[in-house]
Amino acid sequence: MEQTLSIIKPDAVEKDQIGNILSRFEKAGLKIVAVKMLHISKAEAESFYEVHRKKPFYKDLTTFLSSGPILVLVLEGKDAIALNRKLMGATDPAKAEAGTIRKDLAESIDRNAVHGSDAPETAKQEIAFFFQPDEIFSKEPPHRKKGCCCCCS
Ligand code: ATP
Ligand code: MG
Repeated sequence: MEQTLSIIKPDAVEKDQIGNILSRFEKAGLKIVAVKMLHISKAEAESFYEVHRKKPFYKDLTTFLSSGPILVLVLEGKDAIALNRKLMGATDPAKAEAGTIRKDLAESIDRNAVHGSDAPETAKQEIAFFFQPDEIFSKEPPHRKKGCCCCCS
């Protein structure tokens, strides 16, 4: 089991595509274990996309992400990171496979409907950026083997 961070970006929220996107996650077997709607500041968007600070599109990307409400989600499931990226499609909607979120719902590379974590380490960091541990309702069954961890005595 794995967790990943998903963001429904301002363009998709504006176009009333929240339900459409959530239903794609659920139909693919990803569990929505945390969710909140936010309107983040430019500074928060800059911090979230810090890894892209040197890129020519950084200013536009962070202005866009802070331009309106977004939905932030934690998705859980087997290979959740890769599965979410597959559902999203390529960064540029014009190059995305048919049936993906970006192909179906996004208009351009800089307004591309969704974000998804790209690796286990970034997923961990990105989830912690938006959620406290007690805001995440994992569906993982609790450990049962005696002594397997601190909560299974
Ligand atoms: P995201 O991180 O949003 O899930 P991604 O992982 O598919 O997207 P990244 O390379 O991490 O793509 O780029 C982050 C975001 O920056 C993209 O979603 C896109 O909006 C924007 N971006 C990336 N490359 C370009 C580009 N060449 N021109 C304009 N915007 C770009
Ligand atoms: Mg990325």
